[in-house]
Amino acid sequence: MNAFIVDTHCDSVKWLAQGVSLRNHPGHLDLTRLNSAVKLQFFAMFVESSYKPQRAMERTLELIDLSLQSMEQNKDVLTMVNTREDLQQLTTAKTCGALLAIEGGEAIIDTYMVRHLFRLGVRSIGLTWNQRNRLADGVLGGSGGLTQLGKKVVKEMNALGILVDAAHMSPKSFWDVLRTSSQPIIVSHANCRALCDHVRNLTDLQIKTLAAQDGVFCLTFAPDFLKENGSTIDDLLDHIAYAADLIGPEHIGIGSDFDGVDSLPEGLKGVEDYYKIYQGLEQRGFSESECQAISGGNVRKLLMRILPKEVGKS
Ligand SMILES: [Zn+2]
Repeated sequence: MNAFIVDTHCDSVKWLAQGVSLRNHPGHLDLTRLNSAVKLQFFAMFVESSYKPQRAMERTLELIDLSLQSMEQNKDVLTMVNTREDLQQLTTAKTCGALLAIEGGEAIIDTYMVRHLFRLGVRSIGLTWNQRNRLADGVLGGSGGLTQLGKKVVKEMNALGILVDAAHMSPKSFWDVLRTSSQPIIVSHANCRALCDHVRNLTDLQIKTLAAQDGVFCLTFAPDFLKENGSTIDDLLDHIAYAADLIGPEHIGIGSDFDGVDSLPEGLKGVEDYYKIYQGLEQRGFSESECQAISGGNVRKLLMRILPKEVGKS
C-alpha cells in the first residue's frame, strides 16, 4: 500500500485542552502511530456547549493555540499545511501534515473573524455543529438554512482559500451552502442515509448533488452512523462501496472522527488500522488507483484547488 492517506476529521485536540500530549496518547491516535498511517490529518477545533455562544471565540483561539504549540513541539512528526505548496511538499516529507479545521461556526460573528482564523492557519470550517448558530441551522437546530451572515462567511471562505465543510448541517443549510459556495465543498464525516437512517447521514440526492459540484463525501467510522446495533469494518466498507456506486470513487473520502466517538466499529482500534480499510477496498474489487483516490487522493486534489498557492497569494 503506497497511498497519500487523508483523514478529514478527528477530535484529538480535546486531549490537548486536558493537558495531555498527543505524542504517546493511548486514544484512537497518537502522533507516532498517526505519522506511520496517515499523510494529512484534519484536526477539528470543537467548542464544548458550556462555552457557547459568548465564549466560543475565546475557546476557539485557545484550542488553536494549543494545536500550534503541539505542532511546534512535534516538528519531527507533524507539519502544518497552509498552502498548496505545503501540500506538495508533504509527498516526500517524513512527517504527517496537519490541517486546522473548525467544527461549528459559533465563534464567528463577522467576516473579519474568518480572515483572522485564516491568518492563524484555519483551512476548513464546518459552519454548524448540531445546533443553530448565527451562520446556519444545524441538523438538530431547526429547519432553517444559511443566514445572511452565513452566506457572507461562505463567500469569504471561498475568496481566502478555506474549505467549506457541510457536515452536521440541516438539509436546508446544506442546500443553501451548495447554492452559495463558488467552490466545491466537502462533508467531512457522515454516512449514507439509504443504509442507515441516522439524521447525520446524507440522502442519495444530497450525495449526488455534492458530487455533481465536484465535492468530496467523506465517510466516517461512528458506529451509530453505520448500523443501528453493533457495526463492523464491513459495514463501513458497505457505506463506502454504496457511495462509490452512486457517485463514482473520484468523489469519496474518509473522515474517521477518531477521539470524537466513544467506540469504533469492530475490527478498528485506531489510526494504525487504516490499512485494513485500504485492504478491504481492494478485496471488494476497487483498483489500486481507486483505493488511492478514496483513501486520500480525492481530498488532496480538492485541496490543491482550494488552498492558497502560497501564503499571501491566493
Ligand atoms: Zn462531528
